Amino acid sequence: MRKFLLLLLFFVASSFLIFSPSWLSPSFAKMQARKYFIRPKLVIVIVIDQFRYDYLERFRPEFVEGGFNMLLNGGADFINCRYDDASTVTCAGHATLFTGAYPNMNGIIENEWYDPGLHRPVYCASDLETKLVGGEGAGASPRNLMGSTIGDELRMASDFKSKVVAISLKDRSAVMPGGHTANAAYWYDAPQGHFVTSTYYMQQLPGWVKEFNQRSHAAAYCGKNWQSLPDNPIAPRKMLKSFRAQSGERCPDTRFLNWLDRTPYMTEIELQFAESAIQNEHLGAGPHTDLLAISISENDYIGHAFGPYSVQVADVTLRTDRYLASFFKDINRMVGLNNVWIALSADHGVAPNPDFIKAHHLGLGNLPAANIRDEVERELSQAFGQDQWIESADKFYIYLNHQTLMRHHVSESEAQQVAARAAASVEGVRAAFTRAQLLTGQLPDSSLARKASHSFNSLRGGDVFVIVDPFTVIGPAGIHTNHGTPWNYDAQVPLIFWGSAFNPGVYSIPSQPIDLASTLAAALHLTQPSGAQGKPLSVALR
Ligand SMILES: [Zn+2]
Repeated sequence: MRKFLLLLLFFVASSFLIFSPSWLSPSFAKMQARKYFIRPKLVIVIVIDQFRYDYLERFRPEFVEGGFNMLLNGGADFINCRYDDASTVTCAGHATLFTGAYPNMNGIIENEWYDPGLHRPVYCASDLETKLVGGEGAGASPRNLMGSTIGDELRMASDFKSKVVAISLKDRSAVMPGGHTANAAYWYDAPQGHFVTSTYYMQQLPGWVKEFNQRSHAAAYCGKNWQSLPDNPIAPRKMLKSFRAQSGERCPDTRFLNWLDRTPYMTEIELQFAESAIQNEHLGAGPHTDLLAISISENDYIGHAFGPYSVQVADVTLRTDRYLASFFKDINRMVGLNNVWIALSADHGVAPNPDFIKAHHLGLGNLPAANIRDEVERELSQAFGQDQWIESADKFYIYLNHQTLMRHHVSESEAQQVAARAAASVEGVRAAFTRAQLLTGQLPDSSLARKASHSFNSLRGGDVFVIVDPFTVIGPAGIHTNHGTPWNYDAQVPLIFWGSAFNPGVYSIPSQPIDLASTLAAALHLTQPSGAQGKPLSVALR
């Protein structure tokens, strides 16, 4: 009997050890979780400049295998991802994606803002203490960016053994994604046809970059025109841009480089440069996870010139798809796609052309910036006396002239209120918030007020923040199109995660571009970037 009891006890104890649920033993559960966390060798974040969410759906029937389709079919596709701020421009969008924080935190409120202390505009990536490397003039750096990026966190967590490289045609779109501690950020100097960097990162270009520049990739396009692809759904095989060489002209020269600079061919060159970076910087070859940020700029240049419903935008989208398919194939050869995670998003979308807007009765179309400025000046002069009340104005902010205010003994809040009321009374303006409102949070309980506060940074914002009506493009009559509003055509962008950490599927839950950095930080078991406001999209995390 005792023998039987002992046997029973042994059986119960051993079966408990074997079959016990892991939640009974936290350390065991942790071990299990750790066991299945396999660091990727390389994380590639692709940002397409001015790439509306709907482009992926509108042009999907014409996509090839292995480009966007690889991400759409095999990735976690968040189809309802929208910026929750009003600063839908390139520099702010890139800073937001990589810091996981809106401009109120990351400080990048626009591409360029007015500095009342300096009495001049400040470019987001400017740094007068740096010089261009590989070119002439001032360099660029992330000194205006507040807080860390996902790349900074990766660098710090690995004792700076992980490499972070950022590439774009635009300086700001390489500098912001790279963060403060990037090994390198490279961008394109169009007049020279060269990739360059700044002394913030290095004193001279690495040998491989010099070699890439010397090989003159532009030469491969000499004699080519830009004709739409045969499967362009809007107009197949249409001549979109041709180059006529003058007699005795050598190619590529400056005139040809200028021509090439606004064609989709630049994306092919940019991705070739990115491949060269992977190979020569040995990205994905070491024991630590590396990060490559690529911002594809050409879509923005072409989008501005022709608008979202043009044959040109259809063509640059289809060509981006084909270039990405070839890029992914090469990544597989170089690093192995099973070692790579890819995230795709955009810095902003774009409004339809004002002519299209008017033809389809969607809204006002274009609104000259002077309409707002003149009305605000008029109302301030009427209220407080004739004078120059505005020091500067751009499409987001009115900066009041504080010397004029002092001269007339007018308080800031008084002047702001009059200015905001005047701005809001202009046809085409939806809302105007004062600096005092944005500073103290005394805002109406509305989504527009929330978006405005996400765009406002106390150190850089102006006195009045202006939001235009939907389908209103700030600019003179004849402006092609633009972006920079909180409306969804500007704010809704793709957000896709691809790789072994993510559950493939289509997710329609609300998500935001700030979730990109937060999700990658969670998937990589990193500290969240310092100001991150995003949430890890755990629904897609394995
Ligand atoms: Zn743009």
